[in-house]
Amino acid sequence: LKDNYDLVVIGSGGAGLTSAIQARELGLHPVILEKMDKIGGNTTRASSGMNAAETTVQLDHQIVDSFQDFYQETYNGGGKLNNVELLKYFTEHGALAIDWLAQHGIKLDDLTITGGMKVMRTHRPSSLAPIGGFLVSELLKQADRLNIPVFTGVKVIKLEADDDQITGIQAVANQHEINIKTSAVILASGGFGASAELLKKYRPDLAKYKTTNQPGATGDGIALAEKIGAKLVDMDQVQIHPTVQQDTDHAYLIGEAVRGEGAILVNRDGKRFVNELDTRKKVSGAIDDLDGTGAWLIFDQGIRDRVKAVEFYDHIGLVKTGASVAALAESTGLNADNLKQTVEKWNGFVEKHNDSEFGRATGMDRNIVKGPFFSIHIAPAVHYTMGGVGVNKETQVLKDDGTTIKGLFAAGEVVGGLHGNNRIGGNSIAEIVVFGRQAGQQAFKYLKQTD
Ligand code: ADP
Repeated sequence: LKDNYDLVVIGSGGAGLTSAIQARELGLHPVILEKMDKIGGNTTRASSGMNAAETTVQLDHQIVDSFQDFYQETYNGGGKLNNVELLKYFTEHGALAIDWLAQHGIKLDDLTITGGMKVMRTHRPSSLAPIGGFLVSELLKQADRLNIPVFTGVKVIKLEADDDQITGIQAVANQHEINIKTSAVILASGGFGASAELLKKYRPDLAKYKTTNQPGATGDGIALAEKIGAKLVDMDQVQIHPTVQQDTDHAYLIGEAVRGEGAILVNRDGKRFVNELDTRKKVSGAIDDLDGTGAWLIFDQGIRDRVKAVEFYDHIGLVKTGASVAALAESTGLNADNLKQTVEKWNGFVEKHNDSEFGRATGMDRNIVKGPFFSIHIAPAVHYTMGGVGVNKETQVLKDDGTTIKGLFAAGEVVGGLHGNNRIGGNSIAEIVVFGRQAGQQAFKYLKQTD
């Protein structure tokens, strides 16, 4: 670790890796500092994919999409509270980001759909591997290729600024304090879903929930930026993810692709109770309104074949299996007659492409007929923090008076505003690539100007 870098990137998740790669390719020499022993942050846990509209991948699948629809569906899903400046940039740069990844050998050629979206615009690898681990390992290969130094076990504890202009950072590694001089910092330190303290401060009502987040998701970057005058936005907007398996110590998020590919949700009586692909907020609310025992995802082998992650869920014991729907009900502890009826009725809806019960209109391409049959017990848990530091579309960190802190950029979950009151599945991976690239570009532009 040197005592001087032109650019310091805080965090090694998707936003940090993307911004460092982009900055390096423009000629900067960034360093990535990661406080945990492991690289990748919460990004490694992302499962569905990357949303983007008007992509060539969509055309290859005969899907004609528009920036406008992507914008409107995200805006509606976010309770119309989204920062429209960020949302416009986001929806108009997703296709470029998909191309940029492909140019780096990171191909997202398959499509699925997530709650709140009307068309297939969630891009994922054709291996159907969960997006997060795939993306992080591929981006790391690029970082390696470009000789970008990545240090783990280095926790940034202070941003130094003089007259609203970044001059350096302070970090701790092996209990030693390190001072690094730099004129530019990209905050890519993620959200605060694993901070009991910040959740208590901003959303005490959520204390009852477990979290899907990695333990390092404690909102450090938000506190660091706030200390030098950054404005914080939407800090009370915390997303509860509807389908999290939590019968083990670890709260395992069950990816939205399971529903996107056709799974249904039933209550203890074996009956559906919600449009499974409504927004995360609505589906979580519906599960919370049940009798407190959570809900069960029900699907068959055909759906399982479309979601690789299920193999992993099964491997760690989260999946119940039955040769028939009745046998599945038995092993799961659900009412067998009701479950059989529910599945039959659902298959009828799929055939007519009309869910006359709950108005589901997406993720209806596959019925539930091919044994064996599977169930996963789920309930909502804290998943994502929509709030964070305020930025403009150039990813410059803003102060309360609307001016910027010079040399300070932020991208990814550390930023607030893009998602309004509900983040759509597939939009966070899109956010880290779109705005990670932008942060790398803007840091370069800034350093060139001040040279
Ligand atoms: P994003 O999806 O926005 O890229 P992630 O959660 O994937 O966010 O990654 C953020 C990373 O930043 C995590 O690996 C986290 O451990 C790291 N991080 C958080 N706070 C600090 C800090 N103070 N110093 C260094 N790294 C940090």
